[in-house]
Amino acid sequence: MINSMAAKHAVWPKEDDAIFGLAAKAQQAIKKYGKDKVIDSTLGALADDDGNLICMKAVYDELKSMPNENIAAYALVAGQPDYLDAVQEACFKEYRPEAYIKAVATPGGTGSVRHTIYNYTNSGDSVLVSDWYWKPYVTISEEYGRKVDFYNLFNDKNEFNIKSFRESFEKLLNKQKRLVAIINSPAQNPTGYSLSDDEWKQVIDLMVENAKDKENRIILLVDAAYIDFAGKGNERRKFFKQFSNLPENILVVIGYSLSKGYTMYGMRLGAAIGISSSKDIAEEFYYSCAHSNRANWSNCNRGAMEVMTRISNDPKKSEAYEAEKAIYKNMLHKRAEAFVKASEDAGLEILPYRDGFFVSIPCDNAKAISDKLMEDNLFLIPLKKGLRFAVCAVSEEKCKKAPKMIKSIMDNIQKE
Ligand code: PLP
Repeated sequence: MINSMAAKHAVWPKEDDAIFGLAAKAQQAIKKYGKDKVIDSTLGALADDDGNLICMKAVYDELKSMPNENIAAYALVAGQPDYLDAVQEACFKEYRPEAYIKAVATPGGTGSVRHTIYNYTNSGDSVLVSDWYWKPYVTISEEYGRKVDFYNLFNDKNEFNIKSFRESFEKLLNKQKRLVAIINSPAQNPTGYSLSDDEWKQVIDLMVENAKDKENRIILLVDAAYIDFAGKGNERRKFFKQFSNLPENILVVIGYSLSKGYTMYGMRLGAAIGISSSKDIAEEFYYSCAHSNRANWSNCNRGAMEVMTRISNDPKKSEAYEAEKAIYKNMLHKRAEAFVKASEDAGLEILPYRDGFFVSIPCDNAKAISDKLMEDNLFLIPLKKGLRFAVCAVSEEKCKKAPKMIKSIMDNIQKE
């Protein structure tokens, strides 16, 4: 009897996605005990206080007003030109760096992560990622025969650990002479951390210093999937300006996603936006990503591109969209504030939260704690280094309650 048909590189452990598995368990509990009795903080999607997925009216009214053929048609391989302009505007706002900038449409931010990892590393290279991280960075690297090295995200003052970043960065760059380093900011998943403008300056100084060796190829992937829910106004976009006029052997790629900012999760649209001081390198980026699009998924969701472009290019629609988003941003802010405050009151240690959908709790035995919390109908995600609580999915009321429950289970498990 044979037990495998797949080629060796395509055989993986038979495990289903842990997050979706836990979300399904939470749904079962809701059916059994009722919404009020369950805290479901599993999925990274905005939900209202009753746990229903929030779908922006400005987005879906626009989609439903469009002729079928605008939704059904194929898009150009690299994306519709007006979308590629609109997405750059949406990403940078008033902080567009002075550089050559080219965008390519991708299915969500995930596509831009895939393109950057595959197109800018060699087989067997290591990609640099922080120790608190979004798991698909590893899944994508593995898929393409790349490895992952980790730096510590925080120092003992709970600031960005530039020392650890520098050590790993220089070690890998000296060895490989090219490096893709990923920074997920602002509103990091899973911690909610955002680098300050000064911390960004330190990262850029380090890259510029290492770019003096012209043999080095430095690629910084800024995963900005949550930028639309970060900071006041556009303050969390200021750092983009720091990507102006960098040496030619530094390429910055912004992974932009419409999943969160436009509540278009399943519609699969985003962009890889390449920033370089060299016109040739920016063009190479564009054609490299376009080739990858054709090879992997051909082209992206035309209807989603059109919705986003129509909203962006019409001042009234744009205003309505921004006003609606501001309501949800405020809701998220209040929930996170409630969770942080309740953690302080309960003596629960959390990682520094600045913005976004998640808060993380550092601990050793995350799986055991999460299992126990499930018995109390609190569902959150166990990670290697702690627990992830999705404030995006839980009402303010429940955000106030959860920290005490978590702390109590953690204390009990430690006593055992
Ligand atoms: N990066 C991070 C850190 C994420 O959490 C996500 C979504 O969960 C993404 C990127 C991209 O998601 P999508 O492909 O849905 O845009």
